Formats: sequence, structure tokens, C-alpha cells
Amino acid sequence: MIVILKKDAQKAKIDSLLQTIDALGLKTHYSQGDETTIIGLIGDTSKVDTDSLLANEIVSDVRRISEPYKAANRRFHPEDTVVDVGGVKIGQGFFSIIAGPCSIESEAQLTTIAKSVKQSGAAFLRGGAFKPRTSPYSFQGMENDGLKLLLAAKKMTGLPIVTEIMSETQIEDFEDVDVLQVGARNMQNFRLLKELGKTRKPILLKRGLSSTIEEFLMSAEYIMAGGNPNVILCERGIRTFETMVRNTLDISAVPLLKRQSHLPVVIDPSHAAGIAWMVEPLSRAAIAAGADGLMIEVHNNPKEALCDGAQSLTPESFDALMGQVAARAAFEGKVMSRHG
Ligand code: PEP
Ligand code: MN
Repeated sequence: MIVILKKDAQKAKIDSLLQTIDALGLKTHYSQGDETTIIGLIGDTSKVDTDSLLANEIVSDVRRISEPYKAANRRFHPEDTVVDVGGVKIGQGFFSIIAGPCSIESEAQLTTIAKSVKQSGAAFLRGGAFKPRTSPYSFQGMENDGLKLLLAAKKMTGLPIVTEIMSETQIEDFEDVDVLQVGARNMQNFRLLKELGKTRKPILLKRGLSSTIEEFLMSAEYIMAGGNPNVILCERGIRTFETMVRNTLDISAVPLLKRQSHLPVVIDPSHAAGIAWMVEPLSRAAIAAGADGLMIEVHNNPKEALCDGAQSLTPESFDALMGQVAARAAFEGKVMSRHG
């Protein structure tokens, strides 16, 4: 980090600033030029508050050279992280498919879908019990009853389960859930992220609708700073000016995230486009870009789905997609994770 001083900065004030930086446990490199005087901060600057430096009357600018995230940063952890969910792995060459309905609607619906996605080769079963809907009048999910059905489907199929947690008060109730999903709308629910950091649960963190890559990684950092290293990043499309798709899949997020961070990256092509026929081409793009997995919505009767029917694949189309995915993942040198 570099602090640029104002031209008329008085020596006493500069000394005081150097002392303040020293108290933060950082070394400094002071350099007085003809035109500008700068102080280089050496050490772990992730905890330095740039705003408070800027508030100092002798400071004209502060520039970060290194990223504000540390635990999630590849610079300090060059190896890819593998998140191991009871033997089912994601990352470092292990490619996992998470599939299931947007929302759990009934025992019959979930059982049918769970069996078929397992048969097709999914490594995880997803299903929303608590749904973050834009309208309070839309179906909000089956809540605790849905969670019970999901746990029963886990028992029946043996597939590890993924479901969305909306509040830190639910952590105890989600004890038997294998992967806790933090939805796009909760990516910056910092209290939730902090509490999840105190657990060792694998977390599927979805990118916020309008979040930058740095904000996304800072949210991962919240979880990891608490001591939980088991974070999986999920790109699910961002808001743009385009109206023909629900969101725009930011495919460049995959190489960017993998360059900046060691965490596994999963693509959700269902929410990214919001259109069932686009799930397949976007899945192919995700694999080619280097993703570690896919999360895909599957419904036995998309036309009647209570949530996200337009983007849901039928079990048959999901099965066909899996053939394509397996071949392409193998081409990229990935190993498809499977339960059991
Ligand atoms: C979901 O996975 O069903 C969901 C609500 O996703 P997102 O948070 O990405 O909108
Ligand atoms: Mn959905």
C-alpha cells in the first residue's frame, strides 16, 4: 500500500503518521522526491483502513497494491483448495454436479427428482426449503417441512444435500445439511457470514446480483477469517442492461476468481440465464473456462413448478446434459465426483 502525502505536509505530522503506521505492526519506506513524498507500507495491509488514512490532513491519496483479502488470496495459498464433503470433492481437478429443484414442493416431487438426478450422475442434491423471493406474496418455500423432506431424500439416495440458509439463527437446524448455500441476496449479510465462519460447514457462496469480484472475495474472506476454510464460490449471473436473459453470466469470473483465489468455483447456468435451453451451452462454456462444478435446477414438471420453472431442466434433458458434461469435463482433465 502506498500513502501519498500532500506537498505542504509538516515534519511533525509526518512523524506522527509514521508512528501510527508503526503501531499497526507495519514497516514503512519513506521516499521524498522533488514533487511527491510517499510512504510505502510493508507487511499485511489487509487490516488497514484506507478511509482513516485518507482522513489524515497530510494525506492526499492512498493506493492499494495488494488485495484486501488474505485467507481467500492465492498469493498466500498457491495450491487449489479442495472442499471435501464427506468424500465428495470439489476443486483441484474434481468436478461436481449439484442438481435438484429450485424449491422443495412435496415428497413425491423431491423423491422423483432426487432419484433421477442421482441416476444421471449428480454428486449433490439441491433443493430450496427457505426461498428468498422478490415478492412477499410469492411461494416462500416449505420451510422446516421442506428441510425434513430434503433430509429424508438424503437418507434415501445417500446424496449429500445443498440448501439455502437465510439467517444465522438457522445454523443449528441445518446441522445435517452437508453444504449451506448463501444466496445472492445474502452475499453481504455479514452477520450470517461471520457466524458461518465459526462453523466448519462447507459453504456455497453465491455472487451478489451487482457485486464486484473483489466484493465477492471479501464475503468469502468474512467466512474464512472466522476459521472456516470450506468455501465454494458460485457465479450465478449478474445484473446488466440486457433484458433477454434474467441475468448475464459473467464467464470471465471463472478465470478471474481462479487467478485471484484458490477456492473452487462453481457456475449456476440456471439462474444465470433464466432459460432452460441456455443451460447446456452455458454449462459447456463454464467447463471450458475452468469451472470446478455446476449447479443446475431440475424439475419433473417445469410448467407447474412453484419457482423458477422457466429455467428448470426436465430429468430427461438433465440426463442428456450429463452425457455432454462428462465428456467435456474429461476433455479438460477433470475427474467427475460421484457419491459412493
Ligand atoms: C437458488 O439457488 O434457487 C437461488 C435463489 O439462487 P440465487 O441466490 O443465486 O438467486
Ligand atoms: Mn431458483
